[in-house]
Amino acid sequence: MSASEEPLRLASVDLGAIRHNVRTVAALVGGAEVMAVVKANAYGHGAVEVARAAVEAGATWLGVADVDEAVALRDAGLSVPVLAWLHSPQASFDRAVAHSIDVGVSSVAQLDAVAAAGLRVAAGLREAGEGGAAQQPARVHLKLDTGLGRNGAEQSLWPAFFARAAELQRAGQLTVVGLFSHLSNTNDEEDRAQLERLLAGVELARVAQLEPPIIHLASTAAALRLPETRLSMIRLGIGMYGLSPFDDQTSAELGLRPAMRVEGRVISVKRVPVDSGVSYGYTYRTATESTLALVALGYADGIPRLGSNRAPVWINGEIHRVSGRIAMDQFVADVHDAEAAVGDRVVLFGDPQDGYPSAEDWAEAAETINYEIVTRIGARIERRYVS
Ligand SMILES: *Cc1c(COP(=O)(O)O)cnc(C)c1O
Repeated sequence: MSASEEPLRLASVDLGAIRHNVRTVAALVGGAEVMAVVKANAYGHGAVEVARAAVEAGATWLGVADVDEAVALRDAGLSVPVLAWLHSPQASFDRAVAHSIDVGVSSVAQLDAVAAAGLRVAAGLREAGEGGAAQQPARVHLKLDTGLGRNGAEQSLWPAFFARAAELQRAGQLTVVGLFSHLSNTNDEEDRAQLERLLAGVELARVAQLEPPIIHLASTAAALRLPETRLSMIRLGIGMYGLSPFDDQTSAELGLRPAMRVEGRVISVKRVPVDSGVSYGYTYRTATESTLALVALGYADGIPRLGSNRAPVWINGEIHRVSGRIAMDQFVADVHDAEAAVGDRVVLFGDPQDGYPSAEDWAEAAETINYEIVTRIGARIERRYVS
């Protein structure tokens, strides 16, 4: 592609929107710290760029799923605390400790693995003559399952979990920085019951001589709607990207701005007669003589095939519909008698305040949620960052 050429596929990511969203939520949650959750390449937006913007806007922590994602942030020069909470069964945690990454642990086995990693890393530094004694102990956040049924120690194991964590902390082998859990977002009542269980866990930890400074529970939904769940820190994901976690409230109603806009170009235009079949299986046939516009985006790019014959696209200020099956690399929009020329911009979704279809429109067409629409946007789509 020459410098002047427009890309075939583009995801424009507005870092100004990311900063605005972080500031908006930070102001709302008052004293609670904000962890910017940038797992899965920042929900498709680009982890490093989003992380930098979030930190500029006041996020004091970064959150990712696994240690590889965390190390990539460190390699890019991000120095704020980073928490990683999803680990392989044989994880050694040496890289996590060496990169000063906080580890979310869900079991005694993981606690022991982190402590052992801390000892190995310190010994390695001593051997290299780099003063291993000065190495800080490994940092962990104890994860409690308060009802979600996924990660986290189950309630019956909390006493043993806390006892071992306290023992390792006393031995100087690790520091318990946080205690946390994750909500099911089923309804306010269920979320409050999980909060109660977490607070009972905090009490039990205290009995075991653990007083972790950071207690965290809420992700975007609870941070916005259930103030009592904000505790010391919230973990902000979807809201930072300007998308609503709620069915009954839009981004705009929450004061948030969608950061991602996905665009293609019209790469061919043809006038076809009535009853022309379009794309595989002829699931669409023109109702009249019509103009078909071809766009080079397909399911290989994360455009959901379920959007075939349903999802909206913006071309020249008008909303048209995907016509026929979305293929691996391309789809067609029947624009009927509207203007369309080769090279015209095609916007699949962006900020509806700008007149574009929303990620929610695509989610509805594809029977999924806005999270999945943005996160699956593929590597072949060029990201461009604007402020
Ligand atoms: C993904 C994730 C979040 C962020 O959730 P949002 O709903 O996107 O705000 C927070 N905490 C954990 C443990 C997660 O896995």
